[in-house]
Amino acid sequence: MDQRKWHQMEVNELAQTLQASLDTGLSSAEATERLMRDGRNELSEGKKASPLTLFLNQFKDFMVLVLIGATLISGLLGEYLDAITIIAIIVINAILGFVQEFRAERSLRALKELSAPIAKVFRGGQVLALPARDLVSGDMVLIEAGDRVPADMRLVEANSCYAEESALTGESLPVGKHCSPILSSDLPLGDQRNMCFMGTMITRGSAKGVVIRTGMGTEMGKIADLIQKTESMETPLQHRLEQLGKILIVVALGLTVMVVLAGIFHGQPAYDMFLAGVSLAVAAIPEGLPAIVTIALALGVQRMIKRRAIVRKLPSVETLGCASVICSDKTGTLTQNKMTVTRLWIGGRPLEVTGEGYEPTGAVYEDGNAVDVKNDLSLRRMLQVAALCNNASVEKKEIEVDVKRKKGKDTIKQEEWVLKGDPTEGALTVLAAKLGITAKSLEGLYKREKEYSFDSERKRMSVMVSHQGGQLICTKGAPDVLMQQCSYVLWDGKVVPFTGTLKKKVTDASESMAQSALRVLGFAYRDLRPHDHTETEAEVECQLVFVGLAGMIDPPRKEVRDAIATCRRAGIKTVMITGDHQLTAEAIAGQLSIMPRGGLAISGQQLADMDDEQLDRLVDNIYVYARVSPEHKLRIVKALQRKGHVVAMTGDGVNDAPAIKAADIGIAMGITGTDVSKEASSLVLSDDNFSTIVAAIEEGRGIYENIRKFIRYLLASNVGEILTMFLAMLAGLPLPLVPIQILWVNLVTDGLPAMALGVDQAEKDLMQHKPRSARENIFARRLGWKIISRGILIGLCTLGAFWITLRSNPGSPTNLIEAQTVAFATLVMAQLIHVFDCRSSRSIFHRNIFQNKYLVLAVLSSLLLMLGVLYIEALQPIFKTVPIGIREWCLVLVAAGIPTFLMGIGSVLGSNGKKKKTNWPVSGSKSLAR
Ligand code: ATP
Repeated sequence: MDQRKWHQMEVNELAQTLQASLDTGLSSAEATERLMRDGRNELSEGKKASPLTLFLNQFKDFMVLVLIGATLISGLLGEYLDAITIIAIIVINAILGFVQEFRAERSLRALKELSAPIAKVFRGGQVLALPARDLVSGDMVLIEAGDRVPADMRLVEANSCYAEESALTGESLPVGKHCSPILSSDLPLGDQRNMCFMGTMITRGSAKGVVIRTGMGTEMGKIADLIQKTESMETPLQHRLEQLGKILIVVALGLTVMVVLAGIFHGQPAYDMFLAGVSLAVAAIPEGLPAIVTIALALGVQRMIKRRAIVRKLPSVETLGCASVICSDKTGTLTQNKMTVTRLWIGGRPLEVTGEGYEPTGAVYEDGNAVDVKNDLSLRRMLQVAALCNNASVEKKEIEVDVKRKKGKDTIKQEEWVLKGDPTEGALTVLAAKLGITAKSLEGLYKREKEYSFDSERKRMSVMVSHQGGQLICTKGAPDVLMQQCSYVLWDGKVVPFTGTLKKKVTDASESMAQSALRVLGFAYRDLRPHDHTETEAEVECQLVFVGLAGMIDPPRKEVRDAIATCRRAGIKTVMITGDHQLTAEAIAGQLSIMPRGGLAISGQQLADMDDEQLDRLVDNIYVYARVSPEHKLRIVKALQRKGHVVAMTGDGVNDAPAIKAADIGIAMGITGTDVSKEASSLVLSDDNFSTIVAAIEEGRGIYENIRKFIRYLLASNVGEILTMFLAMLAGLPLPLVPIQILWVNLVTDGLPAMALGVDQAEKDLMQHKPRSARENIFARRLGWKIISRGILIGLCTLGAFWITLRSNPGSPTNLIEAQTVAFATLVMAQLIHVFDCRSSRSIFHRNIFQNKYLVLAVLSSLLLMLGVLYIEALQPIFKTVPIGIREWCLVLVAAGIPTFLMGIGSVLGSNGKKKKTNWPVSGSKSLAR
C-alpha cells in the first residue's frame, strides 16, 4: 500500500486509487463494507486483566491466604464444618470484591468511551459527525484548528492549515500544509506537507483530506507500542487511603497479636486463639475500602453524566469539591450562544433590525421607516460582506421537541430554523437573508478563493473572493481590532479617509451597543487591484474600507443566575473571562450578578500591562476579564493559584489548552470545544453550560462526603470489633465472638451498608459551606474523633452485653454460647444503627432515615441474615449461636442503642450550646463578603 506514494498523486488519481468520490464522499454501504474489510480505525490497546485474573486476584491478599491456611489446619484437625463455612465466606467475599472491582473497571472504561473522538466526514453528500473509529480509507474528512487528525490522510484542500506533528517527527513547531502533489518520492514524514497523520494536531486553519490509512496501518499505528501510555486513574484520595490501609494493616495485626497473646496468657486454647486472631485480622483490615472508594467515585461519575458533566480524569472528582474559583467563558457558557442581530450602525446612521432567532424574516428600520436595501449602497455592501465572510448557514428542519402533558411528556415534530456553524456567523447569515442576500443569491456572482480563518487571537476573519474578473477582500471582526486594519470608511455612500474624528464616532457607536450587552462586530472590504500583492494575512487585511457595525443579542442562560448565586453561597467565586468587549462583558456580568459592589473588570490590555506582583494584588477583586487572548487565561489561573485558590477554568479553543491543563480542574466544552481542549481537560460539559459546572461541583462535594461517611462507618465498626475482643482477653474473659461470627460481621454488616452509604444523598447544606481545603485530611472535621469514640462505645457496649449475659446464668451449659450470641447480636445491631448516624455530620436525628432506600434495604437484609443465623436451626451449629429470648433482645437493643443515643445527645447539646456551630468552614470569603 505504502509504495503508492500518496503525496505524489494528483487529486483525481487519488480518487481513482481509493475508488472514492471526493465530492460526495463514500456511500454508507460502501463505508460499512470497507469497515468490515479493514477493521476499526483504532490503535490496539495493551492487554487487559481478564475477569478470571481479577477474581483470582481477590485471593492474593496475605491475610486471606493465612485464613485459608488456618482453615486447612482446622479441616485437618477434624473441624470440617468450620473449615467449609470459612471457605464459603472467603469465596463469597471474593465474589463481592470481584463484582465491586469489575463494576468499577467497567464504569471507568465506559467513561473513556464517552470522550472518544468524533470526526467530520462526508458520507453520501452529507457532512456527518461520526466516531473516529468508524473511518475507512476513501472517507473525505474535514479538519480544523483544534482537531486531532483522526487517520492518515492526503489533503485535497487547505486553508492556512498548520499541524503540530512532534509526536511523529520530533518537530515541535507547527508546519504549514498544502494540497498540491509533491514530486519527490522519498520524503521523510515531516516533509510530506500535503499529508496529515493520525494523532497529530491542527493548530490553525482548516483542511479537507481523504483517508488513506486507518488504525494500526497508520504512521501512528507503527509506533503505537511506544506511545501507549496508560494514564493513572487513581485519585490522590485513593492513593492516601491505600497508604492508610497499609498503616491500618499493621495496627490491626499488632492488636490481633496482642489479643491472641492475652487470650493464651489467660488460658484460652492456642488453636482457638489462632483462628480467632486470623479471623479478627481479616475482619479488621479494611481491604474493601479501595474498591468501595472506586465504586463511590464511579457511581458519582455516572450521576454527573446524567447532569451532563463528563469526567475525563477521575482525580478531578475529588478536586471539584475543593474548587474555590470558577473562571468561565462568557459566550455559550454563561450566555445561550443564540445570537440575533438587533442593531446596525452604518456611516453614522443607527438602524434597528426586527425578527427573532434564526428565522430569516424581519426588516431593517431607520427612524421607524423600513429601509430598502436596493437603494442603500452602504447597507448592501455591509450585508454582502456579512454573507460572504461567513461559513454558517441556516435551514428549516423538522425536529423533535418534548412537550409536557398532564401525565408525563410527549414528543412532537416541529419545523424550526436550525443553524449549521458558528452562532455569531449564523446571526449574520440570518441578517443578510432578511434582506434577500443569501448564499444562493451570491453563488454565481462571487467565488471564494481563500479564507483567513477567525481565531480568538486575531479576533477577525477574512475571505478573498473573485467577482466580475476582479478580486474582493471581505473582513469582519471585533471593531477595535478591525479598525486598525482600515484606512478608509464608507460614509454617505462614498469611500473617504478614516480620520480620527470618524474613528471616534465608530468607537462611540460600538461602545454604546456594547453597553446594552450587545456583541458587536465590524465589517470592512477592499477591492483588489491587479498589481496588489496579496498572499499573507498582513497583505490581505490592510488598507480596508470600514463599512459599519452590527450588534447582536446573546441572552444569558436562564439557569445561570441561580447557579452563580449558589456558588456565592458555597464560597465559590465566579469570574468571567471573555474575548468580547469589556462593556458587553460588564453588562452581561451585571445581568448575572457576577460582580459585587467594588469588584473590578479589566481588559486583556490592562492585564498585559501588569506585572505578576500587581496582578496578585488585584486578582481577588477582579470578576471580569474582557478582550483577553487565550494566553492571558494561563496568567489568570497561575495568579489565582498563587493566592491559594483551587481553580476551575473553562475553554474551547486550541489555544486554551495550556490554561485548561494548568487549572486544577480544566473544563472543556462538549459541543463547541476542540479535541485539543477536550484532551487537556479533566471535565467536559456536554451542554457547554455554566450551571453544569456547579452541578458537578455539588456532586464532587457529595462524593467526598460519602467517602467520609463509609470510612467513618467501616473504621468505627472495625475499632468496635477489635476492642470487644481485646478488652475481653485483657479481662481474662472467654472469647466474646467466635471466628465464624467475626467473619460474618465482616462480610454482611460491614459490606452492604457501607456500599449503600457510598450512594447516599447529600446533606441539604452541602452547597452552603466554603469549599474544603485541598490539603484537608480525610479525618478532618472531627471524623477521627467520631470513629474512635464510636468504636470504643460499640466495643464497650458489646462487651457489656456479653458480660451481663455471662454473669446472669453461670451454671447453664449453654451460658457461654448464649453470651456469645448476645455479643454477636449487639455488635451487629450497634453497627446497623450506627450506619444511619453516619449519614449526617451531626447525628441520626438530623436526617430522614428512610431517605436512602439502598441503605434501608442493606440494613434490612443484614438484619434478616442475622435473624437467620440465630433462628434457623441448621445454621446454629455453623455459627455457634442459640436462639435468644425477649429478655436478651432487650439487653441487645439497649446496649446497641446506647452509643447512638449518647452521641446524639452530645450533638444536640453541642449545637444548642454553640448556636449554629458547624464543622465546616463557613462560607463568605473576604472578597465575596463585600
Ligand atoms: P468567550 O471567550 O466568552 O467565548 P467570545 O466568544 O466573545 O468570548 P471570541 O470568540 O474570542 O470571544 O471573540 C472575540 C471577538 O471576536 C468578538 O467579540 C467578536 O467581535 C469577534 N468575533 C467573534 N466571532 C467572530 C467571527 N466568526 N468572525 C469574526 N469576528 C468574530
